[in-house]
Amino acid sequence: MLISLKEALAYGEENGYGIAAVNTPTFEMLTAAISVAERFDIPMILAHAEVHDPVNSVESIGAAMVALATRSSAKFVVHIDHGENIEFIKRGFEVGFNSAMFDGSRLPYEENVRITKEAVALAKEHGAHIEAELGVMPGREDGKDSSEGVGDRTLYTDPALAADFVEKTGVDALACSFGTVHGLYKAEPKLDYDLIVQLREATGVPIVMHGGSGLSHEEYRECITRGVQKINYYTYADKAALQGSQAFLASNPETYVMAPVTVAAREAVEQDLAQLVTCLYQKA
Ligand SMILES: [Zn+2]
Repeated sequence: MLISLKEALAYGEENGYGIAAVNTPTFEMLTAAISVAERFDIPMILAHAEVHDPVNSVESIGAAMVALATRSSAKFVVHIDHGENIEFIKRGFEVGFNSAMFDGSRLPYEENVRITKEAVALAKEHGAHIEAELGVMPGREDGKDSSEGVGDRTLYTDPALAADFVEKTGVDALACSFGTVHGLYKAEPKLDYDLIVQLREATGVPIVMHGGSGLSHEEYRECITRGVQKINYYTYADKAALQGSQAFLASNPETYVMAPVTVAAREAVEQDLAQLVTCLYQKA
């Protein structure tokens, strides 16, 4: 069934959970995420990033996300990830998404405020909620090199500015930069835990972690207890899908059809996500 982003994050805060937001650009990722949420009976956020629209469009994989989430016994938010254009967020809402992230983090501050406000107004028309971003996290969901900028404190989110931003825009959650990067880590992540506490207190809204792949379980838990209630996760799950496929092909070289490869991919993603949620949904 569908629940709102606000409900999911409040549930996370009450229980000391980090709600997993998993990008599901392919059907294997989607069915794996749903089966893990059902198996563990946990709320989850299914996300479709604008950068993944060429893989499968929001009208195709997005419609499947909404349909499967709605009929599932587990609770889901269906969310646009890194919408960089209002038009794309609109397409998501028209398909039935009930949450979206507008990413104006690379825009000048006033421009980010202005378009984020537009996204909030659009979401209200659809009974949906908005996450926005302030501060810069290196890398993107497309898996391009993200080592540049690791530990660069000038990119971190400023708590006073974050408070001003949330007050002006009315967003429901804020993606902040406190030391994570998108994609694969090439250098050790340096997380600023005190900054998370300051951001949570200053903004009054749950903090979102982007670039959640590759952190240790301890690092996740430390972030969650300080106010991170949404954890974006993609790279390692999709990497698991590839490795599952490669392992299947290596042990079944005579395969001449694709379907068993997609099953192997799905099973590998299920294993990866099961490990993730065991950590994120630990009782605090
Ligand atoms: Zn992100």
